[in-house]
Amino acid sequence: MKILVINSGSSSIKFQLFSMKESKVIASGLIEQIGEQTGQIKISSIHHKEPITKTLHIKNHEQGIEIISSFLTDEKIINKLDELDGIGHRMVHGGTMQETAFINEKTIKMIEDFSSLAPLHNPPGLSGVRATMSKAPHVPQVAVFDTAFHQTMPNYAYMYALPYEFYERLHIRRYGFHGTSHHFVATQAAKELKKPLKKCNFITLHLGNGASMAAIKNGECVDTSMGLSPLEGLIMGTRSGDIDPAILFYLEREEGLDIKELDTLLNKKSGLKGICGTNDLREIKAKIKDGDERAKLAFDMFCYRIKKYIGAYFAVLGRVDALIFTGGIGENAVSVRHKICSELKILGIDIDKKRNEKRGVLTHFESKKSTIKLLVVPTNEELAIAKQTQHLIRKAAKRS
Ligand code: ADP
Repeated sequence: MKILVINSGSSSIKFQLFSMKESKVIASGLIEQIGEQTGQIKISSIHHKEPITKTLHIKNHEQGIEIISSFLTDEKIINKLDELDGIGHRMVHGGTMQETAFINEKTIKMIEDFSSLAPLHNPPGLSGVRATMSKAPHVPQVAVFDTAFHQTMPNYAYMYALPYEFYERLHIRRYGFHGTSHHFVATQAAKELKKPLKKCNFITLHLGNGASMAAIKNGECVDTSMGLSPLEGLIMGTRSGDIDPAILFYLEREEGLDIKELDTLLNKKSGLKGICGTNDLREIKAKIKDGDERAKLAFDMFCYRIKKYIGAYFAVLGRVDALIFTGGIGENAVSVRHKICSELKILGIDIDKKRNEKRGVLTHFESKKSTIKLLVVPTNEELAIAKQTQHLIRKAAKRS
């Protein structure tokens, strides 16, 4: 079975083609600056050691998909796009959709309806969908939503204490993001612990440029740190995470910042970058070594916020089987895991320093004394999307 995974941004398309038998990537690539004067193409396949790179004007997403299709056929990986077994699309906002869904008129309408909540993500996602639908009309296409895994949260966890009518009229509530990753690493961790996911209580920490946590009870999400948008919660590369909302009124009054400027401030100029000038944790660590106090402050703030959320999620869950670290920082930043976990002895967490030295591989790093398992589980959102797409197609085939 061959499944193509598409992740469309406003001016980009990222793709991976999987051979599902071996869960192996047979071609992948990134097309950027779509719609600009010169677009960038970088594509690789199992037939090439070096990726193929090109620059040319790419009018729109449809032409981007055309380029991917021609590459795959020229490389003799497929004869035509329409012979694929399935196409899975990463879709950021699925509203209250709990499941992966076949793309049809109804799903498209629903994604459009939720576009006002994810104006930067859902419209480009749909451009990718329309492009593959016109190029491969016979291939089943599936939408995998970042929000879906979190839709099991109880109402007291997902509601904001605003006038209720805003929930009813404008659907303002917590949705949560990175759901595909939280679900993927929780599933892998359950396998590793040889326990059915349905019996596992986990706290998952997806720590990359974007960062979020989830409290998982009996395999289902019961709370998560991102909210209506991916801005709430943890301190991130360039996003503030939780702040007192009154800061915005104050900035408007004192600095005359308008909504657009506040949006840019909180999403692009805050977080680690806002405190110490860079959002790259590797650079922050290098700066700390050179005695940079702002870098140390940013690092300490980042870890402290996570520690607070872990405490909160222990209270939410009652019993915790494991903390699961993933994402660029969660998988690689030994010092972040060390700082957070070594300060949580009170919760029964005890770290094995040596085992924590490993990076980017599935590993345990709790000591023998620890009553809570500590795991690093590398995430693979594209493979998770491919697997969910395959699962839905197989389920439908069995039914018919
Ligand atoms: P995104 O949310 O953009 O997918 P990633 O999951 O790729 O982000 O994570 C990016 C972050 O991971 C950056 O802050 C980067 O510095 C950090 N990172 C990657 N490798 C390492 C490493 N070896 N040590 C520390 N931090 C790392």
